[in-house]
Amino acid sequence: MKLAARVEQVQPSLTLAIAAKAKAMKAEGMDVCSFSAGEPDFDTPTHIKVAAQKALDEGKTKYGPAAGEPKLRQAIARKLQTDNGLSYMAENVIVTNGGKHSLYNLHMALIEAGDEVIIPAPYWLSYPDMVVLAGGTPVIVQTDASTGYKITPDQLRASCTERTKLFVLNSPSNPTGIVYTPAELAALAEVVVEKDILVVSDEIYEKIIYEGVQQISIGSLGQEIFERTLISNGFAKAYSMTGWRIGYLAGPEKLIKTMSTIQGHSTSNVCTFAQFGAIAALESSQECVEQMRLAFAERRKVMLERLNAISGLSCAKPDGAFYLFINIGKTGLTSLEFCDALLESQQVAAIPGIAFGADDHIRLSYATDMNSIEKGMDRLDKFMRALL
Ligand code: GLU
Repeated sequence: MKLAARVEQVQPSLTLAIAAKAKAMKAEGMDVCSFSAGEPDFDTPTHIKVAAQKALDEGKTKYGPAAGEPKLRQAIARKLQTDNGLSYMAENVIVTNGGKHSLYNLHMALIEAGDEVIIPAPYWLSYPDMVVLAGGTPVIVQTDASTGYKITPDQLRASCTERTKLFVLNSPSNPTGIVYTPAELAALAEVVVEKDILVVSDEIYEKIIYEGVQQISIGSLGQEIFERTLISNGFAKAYSMTGWRIGYLAGPEKLIKTMSTIQGHSTSNVCTFAQFGAIAALESSQECVEQMRLAFAERRKVMLERLNAISGLSCAKPDGAFYLFINIGKTGLTSLEFCDALLESQQVAAIPGIAFGADDHIRLSYATDMNSIEKGMDRLDKFMRALL
């Protein structure tokens, strides 16, 4: 069978593959500490599940509008105004099968052969592949610890060409955990406006920030940047709803209509009764979000302390999300070699940095319980002692 040429240019998602492998090893009875996928270990808060169960009981089991339940689109528009200072109507919002799907459909609606999309590295692994699947060209801009893994305005300006269509911004960032300050965002916004390109702001980790760090949306910094900003977000991380697959994108109505047409020919609406759970998530108390954030903050503290005590590894303190992005350069191993050996010898699952465009790093997720963190860090320590 001859497959389409475009699929030869993309790789399976390594985050999903390694997480699945760790789960399979656990199912076989192995004592695995999994720091692989960024998946909160908490159950979805009860009131959200109850709202979906109620919708199911009420027969909300039929097709709905491809762009999402009107009430959910309205609730998201309200949230974007209240939390982020972004003035959208329900018509500016599309509900998608997860945040990932919002980005995928955005690329399908916007990007074609010849278009360039600027992606700062380290990046979340699906960004470049989505560009490729849409027929465009990812332009990877390398950043490192010297700029706190942040793209600078000069780097962004220098990467723009006449073919640049889109800049992908992710703050808080997966995998580095960095959060751009308002001043840094303002400086990047200036370049976006000057070069008259679009920016998609992936804000899926917006609620998971630490120690007084300020998280704002680039789109809130003025009318000119607002008109060039598309917001991607979802329910998976903040509300521990990874398996529900509910995300959204906000932007100009013309784009939203086009994405809705694409969904109309592909996935149709997101699971109808699940969307009622998402409405409850937005419209009820946000106490559950804060409780989970506090638990992540505690885990981050412990994992970072343990990590800093292991010789041969180093890691910048993350301001947001739930990952440690660890430099393994001193080991002389590639990130794949490191992660394979760690899994094989210590049953600790980590994601190789090569997946994020940084082969001298690995990523550990601390969206897991404290016991696994303590045990996994003991094992990582043992692994490093044997290695160096
Ligand atoms: N986004 C999460 C991660 O980076 C979940 C897996 C995925 O979708 O890539 O681990």
